[in-house]
Amino acid sequence: MGIIRGYICSSCNFEKNYFLGIGFSNQKETTLFECSYCNAIKNSTLSSPKCSKCNRKSLNEIMDFTKKLECPRCNRREFNFEIEGSWD
Ligand SMILES: [Zn+2]
Ligand SMILES: [Zn+2]
Repeated sequence: MGIIRGYICSSCNFEKNYFLGIGFSNQKETTLFECSYCNAIKNSTLSSPKCSKCNRKSLNEIMDFTKKLECPRCNRREFNFEIEGSWD
């Protein structure tokens, strides 16, 4: 069973759900990464994926979900973890 982590921007109300963990038909675990260079957010099954925005291998796995991330729409650091659910 996988985990859904939903982020909502408190500045522009942009909302995005990330499907993480191991799903029913997917054997690989999906984790959430933040790029230390351009702050892009990416979910990937790879252990060291490349950033899809700046193409650098500077992604760090997000462990602390209380930390605010940079909003993909307005680029403000107001992207908050708000919703948790599950999927399979
Ligand atoms: Zn990047
Ligand atoms: Zn925003």
